[in-house]
Amino acid sequence: MTEKLLIDDIAERCKIFDENYAEVTERIAIAAKKSGRRAEDIHLLAATKTIPVEVINHAIKSGVTLIGENRVQELLSKLDYYDKSATRHLIGHLQTNKVRQIVGKVSMIESVDSVKLATEISRRSEELGIVTDILVEINIGGEESKSGIKPDEAEKIITEISSLSGVKVEGLMTIPPICEKIEENLRYFDQMRNLFVDISAKKIDNVNMSYLSMGMSDDYEAAILCGANIVRVGTRLFGRRNYPV
Ligand SMILES: *Cc1c(COP(=O)(O)O)cnc(C)c1O
Repeated sequence: MTEKLLIDDIAERCKIFDENYAEVTERIAIAAKKSGRRAEDIHLLAATKTIPVEVINHAIKSGVTLIGENRVQELLSKLDYYDKSATRHLIGHLQTNKVRQIVGKVSMIESVDSVKLATEISRRSEELGIVTDILVEINIGGEESKSGIKPDEAEKIITEISSLSGVKVEGLMTIPPICEKIEENLRYFDQMRNLFVDISAKKIDNVNMSYLSMGMSDDYEAAILCGANIVRVGTRLFGRRNYPV
């Protein structure tokens, strides 16, 4: 039998979601409990890049309350069709010149990786008379290829961002290096937890450390055990993507 490479059929994707959703929520509940929290304390963000809006809306009907898109263009092209009962986050890298298009269209931008970007989000938010919630993205593995702030610069940069009146820092986000072993992931997740706790303890004005967004399909339970309260899961919910982003 040849392996089927593409799953284009909406009904088939919905079926994959149905098969996966209960298990993912169950595992989240167990990990939450193990980490001394309640299932409701952990937010499952469905990472919906490349997933057709019909499938996303099926997921929302089934109980998903938070979705995340990577690309401004993709999000805007789907915007009119999303079931609006779910909250939307931007989780992908954002270029300064795209900020104008996205501000006001999502309730949180998780991928803020510079004062320059935060300044532009703040400026555009003020124009609309809103405050945009943001997470600061940390490059916890110090990888050249990845965006995100160096951990040892996080406090300084968050303090700078905190003076901007059109944005509100609500926590931290990270995409750790791809690891062979789960123990290596745990090390990065632990470092994130420590940074999160350190920055919380500084009690920087106008900064909330409410959310720690980390963990994806292969490691969301480990991330929860290390303190994550947003996990971003795509493949484990919707199946393998037809094309990379
Ligand atoms: C795609 C993506 C995810 C989810 O990845 P999966 O491995 O499919 O679960 C999470 N976070 C970000 C930023 C992503 O781009």
